Amino acid sequence: MEILNSEVNPGESAYLEMDVASLYTRTKINVPVIIERAKRPGPTLLLTGGIHGDEINGIEILRRMLFNKSVRPVKGTVIVLPIVNVMAFLNLNRKFADGRDLNRSFPGNKNGSLASKVANSVSTRIVPHADYVVDLHTGSEERFNFPQVRYDEQHPENADLASAFNAPFTIIAGSQRAGSLRRMLGKKGTPVIVFEGGKSKNINEQVVDTGIRGVRNVMRHLGMLNGEEPERRRRSRVLRETKWVRARNSGMLQRTIRNGAKVAKGDLLAYINGPYGQFQKKVKSTMDGYVFCVNEAPVIYKGDGLFNIGAG
Ligand SMILES: [Zn+2]
Repeated sequence: MEILNSEVNPGESAYLEMDVASLYTRTKINVPVIIERAKRPGPTLLLTGGIHGDEINGIEILRRMLFNKSVRPVKGTVIVLPIVNVMAFLNLNRKFADGRDLNRSFPGNKNGSLASKVANSVSTRIVPHADYVVDLHTGSEERFNFPQVRYDEQHPENADLASAFNAPFTIIAGSQRAGSLRRMLGKKGTPVIVFEGGKSKNINEQVVDTGIRGVRNVMRHLGMLNGEEPERRRRSRVLRETKWVRARNSGMLQRTIRNGAKVAKGDLLAYINGPYGQFQKKVKSTMDGYVFCVNEAPVIYKGDGLFNIGAG
C-alpha cells in the first residue's frame, strides 16, 4: 500500500509521521502513524486514540497493544494513530488551544483552522485506506463511562463489530454529533464503532484491559488473528434508551450507587449536600435500567448531568 508517500509492503511494519500543520513558532506538528501488515491479504483496520487530547485511556490501550505487538495481524493491515490530537495531548486538553474540538471538525478543510487541517489530513490521507474503524474515547471531564461501545444503525456491520468487541455495555445511539469522525465515516459507508471507557486525565486498568480485549476480539472477528472468537462468559448488554439524571441543587456530591449497577425508578443514587451541613437532598433514579456513566466530580452545580442511565 502507498500511504503518506511511503510504500508499505505485505509483511512489513512502518512508523510514519503525518505532517499536519505548523505552529506560529514554526514548530512542525507530526502525527505518528504506525502500520502493521501481515503477509497474507485481509481487511484494513484503523485504530484511533486521542482525538480528544485528555482522553488517556484510549491512548494507553493502543500504547500497550503496540508495545506487546498485539496489534500485529496474521491477515490484513492495522493502521494505528495512537494520538490524533498531539497538540491537545501536550497540554492534556480536550481541544485545541483556540477552543476548537477535533471531533466536531471532520471532514475538515486544508485551508481551514488548525483543527480543520488536522481533520482534513486524517480524512484524506488515512481514512481512504480503512475498511473498518475503532475510535477510542473516554467520558469528558469527571464523567466516568463504564466500558461501552457506541454505534449507530446506519451501517449493518456496525452491530457485528460492537457485538464482537463485547464491552459490558453497547449503546445504540441515533443522533451523532455533527463533525465527528464517526458521523463522517457513517456517511462514507465505512463501518465504525466508538469505545468509551473511564474519564479524562486518568488511566484505569479495568478500562484498559476491556479495551485491549475488545480490539483483539474485533480483529479475530475480521479474520485478522488466528483462533476462534473466545467463549463469552457474559454478553454485552444493549441499551437503546438513555437519559441523564441531573442535579436539582448545587452542592457536594455523595454517591451511593456504583457505576454499572442495575437500578429501578426511585432508587437512591446519591445525596447532594450543602457544604455547611445546612441540607441534604436525595438524588433518585428516574427510570429502570443500568448506570453506564457516573459524574465523579466532588462538587456539582444545579443542572449538571450526574448519572447516565440506559435501558434495553
Ligand atoms: Zn472523546
